Amino acid sequence: MPRLAVDIDPELTFLLPRGRRRSPLEVDAGATDTAGHIVQSLGIPLTEVGELRLDDRLIPRAEQRRAPIGSAALLAVHRRPRPQPHAGRFLLDVHLAALARRMRLLGIDTAYEPDADDGRLADWAAREQRVLLTRDVALLSRAVVPDGALLVHDDVADQLDDVLDRFAPALAPWTRCLVCGEALGAVAAEDVASEVEPGTLRTYRDFARCTGCGRVYWRGAHSRRLEGIVEHARDRVRRSSTAEGGGEALG
Ligand SMILES: [Zn+2]
Repeated sequence: MPRLAVDIDPELTFLLPRGRRRSPLEVDAGATDTAGHIVQSLGIPLTEVGELRLDDRLIPRAEQRRAPIGSAALLAVHRRPRPQPHAGRFLLDVHLAALARRMRLLGIDTAYEPDADDGRLADWAAREQRVLLTRDVALLSRAVVPDGALLVHDDVADQLDDVLDRFAPALAPWTRCLVCGEALGAVAAEDVASEVEPGTLRTYRDFARCTGCGRVYWRGAHSRRLEGIVEHARDRVRRSSTAEGGGEALG
């Protein structure tokens, strides 16, 4: 079988099988193998890949799963440019409950279900054209997943920073329910009088109700920690929106 040299962005080599974490890497490849197949067979989901080049030919993202390598001798694999274009809708896998709450706190459209299996997550992402965030390479590599991102951190603060750097999403803090993710609508104090403690009613003036689950929210004394998360996120997005400047066309 012919040999193909695969030149891999240093930011992606950690995904290669242990013992093969070097670049360029020589692989066996047939002329009809697609560039996308070769990349994913090395353990790199295409969601993590920006530009692919076969010798000097650029393979657009949409064609990566279909473009045969033919007689090319070199496949160059670049990482996804940041910020990565997106339509503002995300879906999180079952291990990312804490991240889901923080993204909702920031007003990002974040779908999450604690017991969704991989098949449901992949279909859901496809049906609603959501960006799938997960730590699972196999899930991310499914052809039906429209777009996504591999999260590499354990800690929720690091995960959130990574998402903000990678997507620079529009933020609208305090506008979504932390539990179900739906939008909040402002309500008058008297409309929630029977649902909150009298002390709360006396102390706070800004109340909101979730349009999805009906839960009542108010800007409480315990929210200083959350205020800190919001301020940090605003800063982070401000910096990541201007950092690389490159990006790629949406669609
Ligand atoms: Zn809700």
